[in-house]
Amino acid sequence: MGDCIFCKIIKGEIPCIKVYEDDSMLAFADINPISKGHTLIIPKRHVENMWEATEGELVTIMKTAKKLIHAIKDALNPQGVAVLQLNGRAVNQIVMHYHLHLIPRSEGEPELKQTAWELIPGDMDKIKETAEKIASAIR
Ligand code: 5GP
Ligand code: ZN
Repeated sequence: MGDCIFCKIIKGEIPCIKVYEDDSMLAFADINPISKGHTLIIPKRHVENMWEATEGELVTIMKTAKKLIHAIKDALNPQGVAVLQLNGRAVNQIVMHYHLHLIPRSEGEPELKQTAWELIPGDMDKIKETAEKIASAIR
């Protein structure tokens, strides 16, 4: 895609700090790291989000995530790694080329706001109604 910043990274038109690459996937360091080791995995084919990605691509992305999460553990020994992926501007996806965030963290390091939401009990009737609506839409 012409003006996609991640496509430009894939083509080498914009530099990145590469961590891993194969035929279909690229992993590189996020330039605004939320924590030390914050890494992005992207498919080389331009797809915006999980809706557009094929099942095969998603499987390959997860296999790549498994490879990378082991490497992050071995290299940095974090106590946890958040795996985060945003679909759509309403959830603050900024770069509209599918990317999976791997965000390491250990206790004592700044809290990841993205993973520290407050638990507020919901209305069980509404929860059930919504879950049933989703369940009945499964293809
Ligand atoms: P999201 O779309 O999931 O909200 O976040 C996009 C992510 O891409 C951000 O964490 C941002 O720092 C990262 N990012 C945006 N532009 C670049 C870039 O040119 N190079 C790298 N390495 N990361 C980028
Ligand atoms: Zn792209």
